[in-house]
Amino acid sequence: MTDPRIIQRQDHPISRKDIDKDTLYVLYRLKDAGYEAYLVGGAVRDLMLGRKPKDFDIATDARPHELKRLFRNSRVVGRRFRLVHVFFGPKNVEVATLRSGIEPPPGNDPDLYIDDDNQWGDIESDAFRRDFTINALFYDIRSFNVIDYTGALDDLQAHRIRAIGDPAVRFQEDPVRMLRAIKFAARFGCEIEDATHNALLDHAPEILKASRHRVTEEIFRILSQPNREIGLRMMADYGILGALYPEWLDAIGDDGFAQVAAFYAAVDKAAEEDRFFPLEITTCGLFLPFLGEIDLEKDNFNRVAARVTEDLRSMALRMDLPKRLMAQVIDYLRGQLYLLFFHHLTKRVRRFVETPYFDPVWQVHLLAYGQVEDLEGVQTIWAEARKRLGTPVGGTVGGPDKRDIFSFRGRTGGGRLPQGRDGRRGGRGGRQDDDEDGDWPAQSAITADLGEDGPA
Ligand code: ATP
Ligand code: MG
Repeated sequence: MTDPRIIQRQDHPISRKDIDKDTLYVLYRLKDAGYEAYLVGGAVRDLMLGRKPKDFDIATDARPHELKRLFRNSRVVGRRFRLVHVFFGPKNVEVATLRSGIEPPPGNDPDLYIDDDNQWGDIESDAFRRDFTINALFYDIRSFNVIDYTGALDDLQAHRIRAIGDPAVRFQEDPVRMLRAIKFAARFGCEIEDATHNALLDHAPEILKASRHRVTEEIFRILSQPNREIGLRMMADYGILGALYPEWLDAIGDDGFAQVAAFYAAVDKAAEEDRFFPLEITTCGLFLPFLGEIDLEKDNFNRVAARVTEDLRSMALRMDLPKRLMAQVIDYLRGQLYLLFFHHLTKRVRRFVETPYFDPVWQVHLLAYGQVEDLEGVQTIWAEARKRLGTPVGGTVGGPDKRDIFSFRGRTGGGRLPQGRDGRRGGRGGRQDDDEDGDWPAQSAITADLGEDGPA
């Protein structure tokens, strides 16, 4: 037994009016039925930092079947991690029963990987099974106290990410925690405490043991939250990107990586100015280096576009990224070539700005090359043609794109591009200044090639 540090209402900033009202209702309902009820995890952390939480999670000593009985509008979900959703119209509040730390498997099985996390426990054991100290605070609805078993308060104050327990063991149990450490460090501008930092360095390659789905999700979260550039650099510096995407890292090299980082810095800056882009646009940043060096005198659009398409398709396969997302990324990057190769052809310029592809292509261009002085002439041409349409430039979204990366998967569920097809579109060949042969829209051509759900 450890004595927790208790922070009373007057000594912390969490007020009930900052808590979502349905969450508050569930907390009170539990308390009135005689159960313990706590606001937990990220919500307590965010409120302590004076930020608005994304979601509110509840922990209680009531068991799932008791929760079902207490809340008629509820459902038990999950197997590996069973919890109860209490529904309020389309929305639900997540309630988890307090859990115990999982004992390592008996015998000398070296595999520490947790695959069953449904052993009930109390508030103390529940605190210690969480990943980082700042994620292990409890707000008690009975007393309005904040309860700290793990030293979270000191770490919050010092802006420090510290794994609970032995970081090497915690990262081996669940390698996704390494990406979570980076996610929180980048998002909150925290440093990673020494032992946690060293364990991250040591165990980064083990990220390959984690579920590909969870890993991809965390990476795209890191690339969609504040301080994307910092998050990207941390993933590279800790060797996570090298472990997951070795071919990508090799192909882009140091200069390519700098280009990718500069793109995400531009996305960060836009976000600070309240301009946000959909994932299809922000993901283009990862693949900008594949456009390569272009010599407008010698190169031909069709040839370069075919090469880029082919390179990107095979890279997307290796990286196991959702096919629909990548089809768009490829289109938008081909669009970059279009902007370069055809800016001097008035008719094409006029026609392209009128297509729905122009705005997203243009946003990618501005994020990637907005600061490149050599391109000023090219940019003026497109910007003016677009301005003449007299409509606002699209390609942005109202807030950060919160879609799950896997919502981009085809109906068959495969995130892969079909194999064994090359990106060549053949037959075009013609002169690149042949104004009659509009090589746009690329979208239809590419998705037709891929088929809605991949190869038949
Ligand atoms: P976010 O603001 O990104 O949602 P969060 O801290 O709420 O951050 P969640 O993924 O929503 O993160 O998880 C909720 C809580 O569950 C965490 O705060 C943490 O206490 C615990 N948790 C989540 N994932 C893990 C994990 N892999 N290992 C241990 N504890 C975890
Ligand atoms: Mg959360």
